[in-house]
Amino acid sequence: MSTTPPLLGQSYDELSYWLSTQGEPPYRAKQLHQWLYTRNLQSLDEVTVFSKRWREANAKVKVGRSQVLQRTPSPDGTVKYLLGLADGENIETVGIPTAKRLTVCVSSQVGCPMACTFCATGKSGFARNLQIHEILDQVLTVQADFGRRVSHIVFMGMGEPLLNLKNLHTSVERINEDIGISARNITISTVGVKGRIRALGQYRLQTTLAVSLHAPNPDLRLQLIPSAQHYPLDELLAECKEYMELTSRRFTFEYTLLKDVNDQDFHARELAQRVRGFQCHVNLIPYNPVAGLDYKRPTPPRVQAFLAVLEAYRVQASVRQTRGSAEAAACGQLRRQILTTAIN
Ligand code: SAH
Repeated sequence: MSTTPPLLGQSYDELSYWLSTQGEPPYRAKQLHQWLYTRNLQSLDEVTVFSKRWREANAKVKVGRSQVLQRTPSPDGTVKYLLGLADGENIETVGIPTAKRLTVCVSSQVGCPMACTFCATGKSGFARNLQIHEILDQVLTVQADFGRRVSHIVFMGMGEPLLNLKNLHTSVERINEDIGISARNITISTVGVKGRIRALGQYRLQTTLAVSLHAPNPDLRLQLIPSAQHYPLDELLAECKEYMELTSRRFTFEYTLLKDVNDQDFHARELAQRVRGFQCHVNLIPYNPVAGLDYKRPTPPRVQAFLAVLEAYRVQASVRQTRGSAEAAACGQLRRQILTTAIN
């Protein structure tokens, strides 16, 4: 059995070394690198510029691509994919096009252990961290399907990226250096894991950090985010401050607006006080309802009123447009549907 890891995820230098051990000339590394990262290579059989003998000798080496099990387009152009991994697990990824951008919403884990009470992914449990090739495959799959260069990446799919920090870091490096997407166009979204925002800061990436706050005080946050029990709001904010000082990067606070739970003017006022002193942007996300959960989306006037309070306190804020079909806009819903169907 071959012990070579999947090729996707390897840097140019690693590929060069691997090929040199097989006596291949240096220009072969350049070719293989191009096929892997820009030409949507699925299997080594396709690399016809390599000799048949070489392809046969490496027949067991995996490129590391996943299978598209389901492709769900929405009228606004957004496409959601259910991808099948080698071990039979499923993940979701989303391609979100605008005139100037193609954004991929990338998953970092199969399921998620954080169990935020309003989130569909949290409901389906946690299986494992994604490997580097499984993260990169999502970007390449969307790029190939749209026939257009991906310009932006958001780690806002399934999972908590900072629980998979090492693979996240290498993936960001590959997305940046090998797929060619600027680090500034990559956003990592986290609900916060003790010590990990600081650890991410040590990498001094030029990526954007988005921190899921969702509540202006510890009590309400704990109701929505059970993991906050091990990581109180004050500690989270202190780490955010350290991150800001370490990286000199502005960051985003995400705030999902839940009707009658955290969407009142007094919440907005408390939030404004809480984020004072941070060089930050507050991103308001009107809730995408999840089947089986009681949370609701606030009305558009309520969302605007919340925004207006923040602006009155001179907090930079905006409302995120919902993309995708209403019934499956929230991440994690496709996998959940599949799991539920499999169970019933
Ligand atoms: N684990 C990461 C990424 C989650 S998805 C994190 O927690 O940041 C990105 C954002 O969408 C998070 O802020 C998450 O809390 C929020 N979110 C999850 N489900 C949602 C839903 N149904 N409607 C609106 N926002 C949701």
